Amino acid sequence: MSEPHTDQERAADHGERTRRSPWRWYLDVPLIWKLGVALVAGVVVGLIVGPPITVIEPLGEIFLRLLMMLVMPLILLTLISGVASVSPKTLGRVGGKIFGFYIITTAFAISLGIGLALLISPGAGLSLTGDEEAESEEAPGIAEVFTDIIPDNIFAALSEGQILSVMFFAIIAGIALAYMQDSDDDRLTELASLIRRITDGGLEIVFLLIRGVLQYSPIGVFALIAVAVGETGADALLPLATLTGVMYGGILLQIAVYTVILLLFRAHIGRFFKAAKEPMLTAFVTRSSGGTLPVTTRAAQQLGIRKGVYSFTLPFGATVNMDGTAIYVGAATVFVANVTGTDLTVMQIVTIALVGVLASVGTAGVPGAGLIMLTMTVTSAGLPMAPVALVAGIDAILDMGRTMCNVTGDLVGTRVVAQTEEGMLVDGTTFDEPDDLP
Ligand code: ASP
Repeated sequence: MSEPHTDQERAADHGERTRRSPWRWYLDVPLIWKLGVALVAGVVVGLIVGPPITVIEPLGEIFLRLLMMLVMPLILLTLISGVASVSPKTLGRVGGKIFGFYIITTAFAISLGIGLALLISPGAGLSLTGDEEAESEEAPGIAEVFTDIIPDNIFAALSEGQILSVMFFAIIAGIALAYMQDSDDDRLTELASLIRRITDGGLEIVFLLIRGVLQYSPIGVFALIAVAVGETGADALLPLATLTGVMYGGILLQIAVYTVILLLFRAHIGRFFKAAKEPMLTAFVTRSSGGTLPVTTRAAQQLGIRKGVYSFTLPFGATVNMDGTAIYVGAATVFVANVTGTDLTVMQIVTIALVGVLASVGTAGVPGAGLIMLTMTVTSAGLPMAPVALVAGIDAILDMGRTMCNVTGDLVGTRVVAQTEEGMLVDGTTFDEPDDLP
């Protein structure tokens, strides 16, 4: 192109360069602002339009499916490559620590839910109208939870989204790969380095795709929120406002506890939540810890955590660690007792806590899983099922908060364990986002 000569040409050329395409402009706005606007707009539109807003449901569905599409390849590739990069001893130690962390925080969370609900008594004075009935579910047996982890068909496990089974396969494949890398046989080491390059390359593809999906996320967030609010509506929320308040209050307290834990481990709180806000918001709208995994993984990378830790702790947390759900189960079971005018005995309270923790380990991080856990605890505590139908009516709104809390708990545990493992945390003060990551 020839150089501009006249003033007019120069001005036109300048305008061309400074005028950005709408797409470029969109990309330049920080993601969190776009998500914030989408969230608020979603609530407003949902409230104004009401149930007909479900026409935009496919826009949210696209977001969910894009995320879910990446979950299985992400777990498989990060774990194979993560496990191959640490010794089995380190892996065992990380596994033990994170399991301990998850169980302790979940036990605390369910006690918090029960305690707050006993204090505030949601549902007292509300009596059941109509003949709502809810289906009860059986809590899975401990033996079943463990044997089911071993997949009898890895392709079925992948296609059915069984996170723990896929993790099991990826871990043993990663250990075999590590063994090949250290072998004296040149053929094996060569093959191992080829597989490492393929898994690492595959992972880079997945990370790039996650980055792309996040650019779509504001549209998905808007649609998901608008539909959830439009379908539930303020009217449905009102009679259950105290239960909603207790649950969200419990979640805030649980996040305050996480903050204290992070401080104890000398984490930079601002930096932690700066990275955590995207997975928190994604969890809030998608209502799936499993589906949020790609975004949680990205946050762990931004926090400087190494693959050797997060590749294991995050997918594991997405399935077994559900602190928000535990708060919900605790509070909602007390609510059920109140609605039916039952005074809970100490034995019943202990049963609720135990079954709640166990059920949270055996239930997947998908939308609505907490409701199944609720039916399990209500049945085990010997309470009637009918009031569960009331709670089910606003489950979407409750699921948002609890999933957000679940994902935060996973990230906190991951950060804490990384801190205690040598070389698993890139020092925080100057670390922002590494250039080689999307
Ligand atoms: N939706 C939650 C999660 O994915 C589980 C639940 O329903 O409580 O973590």
